[in-house]
Amino acid sequence: MVKLSKTSKLDGIKSWSLEAVETCPGSADGHGGLVDACKGCYARTGMYVMKQVKAPRAFNKDDWKRDNFVSDFVDALKKEKFFRWFDSGDCYSLSLAEKIFEIMQKTPHVKHWFPTRMLKFDKFKPIIEKMNSLPNVAVRFSSDSITGEFNETHGSTIFPAEQGVPSGAFKCSAYEHDGKCSGCRACYDKSVKVIAYPQHGRKMKKVFMMKLG
Ligand code: SF4
Repeated sequence: MVKLSKTSKLDGIKSWSLEAVETCPGSADGHGGLVDACKGCYARTGMYVMKQVKAPRAFNKDDWKRDNFVSDFVDALKKEKFFRWFDSGDCYSLSLAEKIFEIMQKTPHVKHWFPTRMLKFDKFKPIIEKMNSLPNVAVRFSSDSITGEFNETHGSTIFPAEQGVPSGAFKCSAYEHDGKCSGCRACYDKSVKVIAYPQHGRKMKKVFMMKLG
């Protein structure tokens, strides 16, 4: 049986996750540190450091390698309409990416939100582009910026809440609704090109203040 998580933020929509940073090669800044967006990562604080949250993520890191993982996953999504990949962690392995693509193909009734930084790596581009070509999949290549920058390849960015929404992006309003999606499904909708998430959390604020000097 696959271990899915259900979070209140996502209105009870299920997700499958891995441990943050250790499965996120795209979080590295190339100088031994983390890119700005990952320095303030929510998945390294609060409830994410609790044993009961870390345990399924550690389990999942081995679980995807077994033979019947894809068929079990497809079964687990039978009644779902929306699904979020990687509430924490990233698709660090090409073999995992191939399996995820197969799951996406076999669940056309599910709208998949696939956030990632793996598009930084050329060898991942073909398989992630294949995912994004499916009508039920919204791949969101996350910008490293916390000041709202993004380019035509990105599907999301982070911006300072006190500043205006970056031009051309859709503002996430979860933090105006107790941190919950409250019926919004923009992240799963591939017609919405870029989502702008307001900075949130003390850790992110600190990263931003340090950046400002
Ligand atoms: S943009 Fe909408 S779906 Fe995405 S996280 Fe924010 S509230 Fe949820």
